[in-house]
Amino acid sequence: MDIAYQKSINVKYDADVFIAGAGPSGFAAAVCAARCGMKVILSEQSGVIGGSSMLSGVPELMNFDDGVNFLPKGIGREVYDSLGYSHSYSRSWHNVRPEELKLIYDALTLSSGVKVLFYTHLTDVIKEGDKITHAVLSSPEGSFAVSAKVFIDCTGQGFLSFLAGASFLYGDEDGNTMSTTLCSVWAGVDFEKKKSEGDYEKAYREGVFSQYDPILPGIKANFPEVGVGFGNVGHCFKVKDTDTESITDAMFMGRKILSEYETYYRNYVPGAENAVLIKSADFLGIRESRRVVCEYMLTTDTFFMKEAFPDEIGRYSYPVDIHPMSADKNGVKGFAKALSMRHENGESYSIPYRSLVVKGIKNLLVAGRAIGADRGMQASVRVIPCCFITGQAAGTGASISVRDNVPAKDINIEKLKALIK
Ligand SMILES: Cc1cc2nc3c(=O)[nH]c(=O)nc-3n(C[C@H](O)[C@H](O)[C@H](O)COP(=O)(O)OP(=O)(O)OC[C@H]3O[C@@H](n4cnc5c(N)ncnc54)[C@H](O)[C@@H]3O)c2cc1C
Repeated sequence: MDIAYQKSINVKYDADVFIAGAGPSGFAAAVCAARCGMKVILSEQSGVIGGSSMLSGVPELMNFDDGVNFLPKGIGREVYDSLGYSHSYSRSWHNVRPEELKLIYDALTLSSGVKVLFYTHLTDVIKEGDKITHAVLSSPEGSFAVSAKVFIDCTGQGFLSFLAGASFLYGDEDGNTMSTTLCSVWAGVDFEKKKSEGDYEKAYREGVFSQYDPILPGIKANFPEVGVGFGNVGHCFKVKDTDTESITDAMFMGRKILSEYETYYRNYVPGAENAVLIKSADFLGIRESRRVVCEYMLTTDTFFMKEAFPDEIGRYSYPVDIHPMSADKNGVKGFAKALSMRHENGESYSIPYRSLVVKGIKNLLVAGRAIGADRGMQASVRVIPCCFITGQAAGTGASISVRDNVPAKDINIEKLKALIK
């Protein structure tokens, strides 16, 4: 049964650019738009900037380079340099030290003049024809609206686009997405002694695990000096992150699985005999959700394409990383096959601006892991350094759209390229 629901709410802010979601893409979009002189509102349902790496306990930042060239220019470069990483490029992954990264995000965001609204959840949009006029938000003070000229969807779930009636794709032909992970924090690990993630198969045979899931990224050495690491361990399968009951069940499941991994690490992994599971994340780690239908859908056959798209907004290089879809040997095989798509040093793929321009809605862009891409490309563009690239382009593109008073899809690409190089 449906019921009608109607309410008058205050238009509390007028903005040039409204952004939902303060993950790496929303952060980059907001800072870049503000630096272009835009009045920017960034709404975030939690109390932190950083998205999955903070809320879901994602343990690492993937590579910022292709082995030869540095890839996320501009704001991505600023974050990288602020973290004091080396300038020798070797495709390294970097362990996240969250409080350090949070302060960097905070400083860059506040100095740019972005108006951040924490604990503020995007719940709806208001449209006139093919344009969004307002975002409807819910916060501890109740519901209110923000008017804006251009909107950017950085929710990671394509949620703003979904509310605006944009088309989207979800999962494989059966609607299944890659597995999710409830990440975790561990203490008591002797990282000098711990050389591997142990003998999973033996433990599985001996009944430690309730499901077969040998793909184990593992406990990373985030704070080796005090034996603390972040766990990317265990998968929850067949979760639909757009279905409230499914995602609720996954949280219960994720916590149950983690207790099995605690037994495993203590008994089967040298160096982790005294490992203690300190905390599971408050948010499920979702690798794949809605893929918003954009003016151009990036497809896996462009992964090895050397030429640049005419509207290239950046290049990135990271394997097609589709985590197992099922808890069995087929899941393992699928994972290995996908992961075999990777570049040689110096190779990368081109990302066009059109993959950020949401089809059918004049003033809506998308950045981060929900951009217009097939499943293979989504499995690569989803990682954090690439989210800086797409976020920066979306924020800058939105600013050009506002300033030149043209639809987001019709901006002058040369202007955009000049601003993000
Ligand atoms: C288990 C796991 C491990 C991973 N490991 C790595 C890794 O090691 N290295 C790496 O680089 N990448 C990794 N990734 C990928 C990466 O973390 C994400 O794909 C990336 O953070 C996506 O960035 P985003 O900005 O698109 O979205 P997110 O980081 O998901 O941020 C979205 C933000 O939007 C907010 N939001 C959502 N809906 C609303 C709403 N309605 N109103 C207001 N706010 C909203 C959320 O609270 C969140 O802050 C991993 C992902 C997972 C799940």
